Amino acid sequence: MFTATTVSWDRVRSDLTLRNELFIDGAWVRGSGEELTLVSPRDGQELTRIASASVEDVDRAVASARSAFDSGVWSGLAPRDRGQRLIAFAQHIADHAEELALTITLEMGKPLRQAYETELRAVVNSFRWYGEAIDKVLDETPSTAPDSLALVTREPAGVVGAVVPWNFPLTMAAWKLAPALAAGNSVVLKPDEHTSASALRLAELAFEAGIPAGVFNVVPGFGAVAGQALGLHPDVDVITFTGSTAVGRKFLEYAAQSNGKRVWPELGGKTASLVLDDADFVKAVEASAHGCFYNQGQMCTAASRLLVPRHRLDEALEIAGRIAALQRPADPLDLDAPMGSLVSSQHLDRVAGFVERAAASGSDLIAGGSEANAVIEGGSYFAPVVVNAARESEIARQEVFGPVLSVIAFDSLDEAIEIANETEFGLAATLWTTDLKNAHLVSRRLRAGIVWVNCFEEGDMTVPFGGVKSSGFGRDKSLHAIDKFTDLKTTWIDLS
Ligand code: NAD
Repeated sequence: MFTATTVSWDRVRSDLTLRNELFIDGAWVRGSGEELTLVSPRDGQELTRIASASVEDVDRAVASARSAFDSGVWSGLAPRDRGQRLIAFAQHIADHAEELALTITLEMGKPLRQAYETELRAVVNSFRWYGEAIDKVLDETPSTAPDSLALVTREPAGVVGAVVPWNFPLTMAAWKLAPALAAGNSVVLKPDEHTSASALRLAELAFEAGIPAGVFNVVPGFGAVAGQALGLHPDVDVITFTGSTAVGRKFLEYAAQSNGKRVWPELGGKTASLVLDDADFVKAVEASAHGCFYNQGQMCTAASRLLVPRHRLDEALEIAGRIAALQRPADPLDLDAPMGSLVSSQHLDRVAGFVERAAASGSDLIAGGSEANAVIEGGSYFAPVVVNAARESEIARQEVFGPVLSVIAFDSLDEAIEIANETEFGLAATLWTTDLKNAHLVSRRLRAGIVWVNCFEEGDMTVPFGGVKSSGFGRDKSLHAIDKFTDLKTTWIDLS
């Protein structure tokens, strides 16, 4: 299972039909908003057009979610029964993983092998894990006085609005949907403009697998219309958001302007990979470069800053440059492609702009850039770039969200920690050292939600994921994610 080379992709491609309507109340509904054109960054060709969700369509989806919630058709099921349906849903996704993976690749350009073997595996895992977990989450009876009884029960929050980005479109959706649904909520999902077709197919598969009508709705649309309408909606109880820091802050404003709903933002990052003098240097630099270029660098956790002792700067640039030269973009449908295309021509311009400004301000650059455009005419290809960056430069501080590695020199351990902590972000950090004491002491001083020591991108459904500072708050994955979508209710019973 999930071995890309065993799949007949030509057949999957010829059978593929992209969904292009809204999915509300278990049915396809034509949106009444502006037309949304899905263009493949692989070759610049149009994939489909979607009549997007207007404010009224979002109202309709929220009303459907509310009525499903109030009816108890899902919220009223025993957790074990909801869990069984989620496990069936996970299996149904696995049975259709090929078409979902291909859709993602066409929508946002990641290599098909990664979409299938990594992303779809994660999506299936996520629904299966929360399906298996939810009936093991127990309520509490605190030790109160003998003549009273207090019950602390976990109640589903109600209607959850989920707004997600395009970089791991179905993984991000699954990290929200699986715990929210497992806890008994109804959900309205607003996928990113680039990756709506995969989200629509996911909703259809959920319905086919036995998730009742209205429990999982999808409203593809523009952020400033459909996303904002969900954020401002007075009948949405919780917003769970993954995306940029700027838009995450908008959701906090929407909540303040409407019903004070809870908002859980998972935002941007600028991971520092801190290589100490005693580390396995080659391994650390190679892993960091790979960790920066994976998914074309479009990762919130991308190891986009490599911090090395000054006397090893040239060596680090040479090793990282070698990895960059190997990671050439190729047709994402080619199963051997190490990299695919960026998500869009607009994003390509944004990433190229960062690199051009770095060059103009005198930073040395190694390899890469947009000369790789030639992969497929009309595609948005960008080869990895390594920059010898000053710690205060724009490229070293801001999230580029492309395959651009800033290598920064430090003169002391304290300075290295200071540089690692000096961006506005705090999602993840990586530390490379063979000294056990440093592993503990330095990782404690790194202001990040996740610290990897001598590894990168380790993850498991049992382990929380999320950041601090401007990278957001709250955690995806693990049992802790269920807290985001439930309220604790206290019921006192007089036994006197
Ligand atoms: P984005 O913030 O532009 O878009 C994310 C979602 O918000 C999309 O669905 C979009 O339509 C919607 N949106 C945009 N403007 C809106 C508005 N005014 N009101 C309401 N909704 C709006 O982000 P992106 O460019 O799609 O994704 C990249 C960002 O996501 C990066 O910053 C990356 O670090 C972050 N990200 C974070 C995590 C994490 O777990 N912390 C994971 C993946 C990506």
